[in-house]
Amino acid sequence: ENYHAVLAENRRLYNEVQELKGNIRVYCRIRPFLPGENRKQSTIDYIGENGELLVVNPSKPGKDGQRMFKFNKVFGSTATQEQVFLDTRPLVRSVLDGYNVCIFAYGQTGSGKTYTMTGPESATEKEWGVNYRALNDLFQISLSRRDTYLYEVGVQMVEIYNEQVRDLLGHGSSQKKTLGVLTTSQPNGLAVPDASMLPVKATSDVLDLMQIGHGNRAVSATTLNERSSRSHSILTVHVRGTDLKTGTTLRGSLHLVDLAGSERVDRSEVTGDRLKEAQHINKSLSALGDVIFALSQKTAHVPYRNSKLTQVLQSSLGGHAKTLMFVQINPDTGSFSESLSTLKFAERVSGVELGAAKSQK
Ligand code: ADP
Repeated sequence: ENYHAVLAENRRLYNEVQELKGNIRVYCRIRPFLPGENRKQSTIDYIGENGELLVVNPSKPGKDGQRMFKFNKVFGSTATQEQVFLDTRPLVRSVLDGYNVCIFAYGQTGSGKTYTMTGPESATEKEWGVNYRALNDLFQISLSRRDTYLYEVGVQMVEIYNEQVRDLLGHGSSQKKTLGVLTTSQPNGLAVPDASMLPVKATSDVLDLMQIGHGNRAVSATTLNERSSRSHSILTVHVRGTDLKTGTTLRGSLHLVDLAGSERVDRSEVTGDRLKEAQHINKSLSALGDVIFALSQKTAHVPYRNSKLTQVLQSSLGGHAKTLMFVQINPDTGSFSESLSTLKFAERVSGVELGAAKSQK
């Protein structure tokens, strides 16, 4: 009986994975208005069932100011954390079948990146973000397969700040240490040889580690949002599964990446250290965009070397790896130009995968 259940579950998961036709997908999420924001003025005109998004320039109302985008999915401001995860779940599950998966949150500060990935501060279970739900799923499924597979799970957490990679799970000096990045590609994992890798047995273990890791992130104030994070954080879950019958092993990895805010420099009116931070962020985000674009175009040369972010994720951003980018939008009219540049970035990253650009050439 149990055997049939496992078989049915495996078949269902297999079908789910098959449905993920492309390797790069982009989900757009519009965050709701926050208290104090003018709810009457939204830059969002229309959200379609099939990933269409119509935005409007507040200073050019009407047809002239409209611009249409199309993504794999658009979540409106009323979408719940649970709904968002439903469409992410098959990707997460494929990690247990040996896939490398990268999930990114991209957008300007205050657009909901952390909300989507982690949830609000002291989140209830209902408010849990993708990270918690993904880990829960991984542990639950591995438990349900315990008669056929032995899964071992380890996590790493690093931060990239001003093009330097730091270990967020190390102790004392190792945590402050700047890490080297492997120049050759590593199968399944971060190309960071010295970053601490800690074994975990349950979601709660990972949550404890994430708390430590988040506390170690470099945070500084900007005029946009005091608590905005100026670094990229990468939580990597490494999975090794051993088939109990045959003894063969498979390895998968899940990278959960909360990117630094994508807002442009002049917006924050920054100088000195803040300017340097902004320039590093800018450079790494465009390098990420270039890499994903090159992958979607299936070009021979993929420019991984242009930033630490893309170097660190190199082995998990090509081949059979699967990439999901959450593109976060603040609907406020005051954010229109940032939203537009976010959407254009996302369009470049995703549009081609759908085959549109190729057929237009
Ligand atoms: P970012 O990480 O992009 O800087 P946050 O995730 O911190 O943005 O979101 C900014 C604010 O908006 C936070 O107060 C957050 O709780 C709130 N927020 C974002 N998305 C949602 C959502 N879908 N539902 C409710 N509140 C949200």
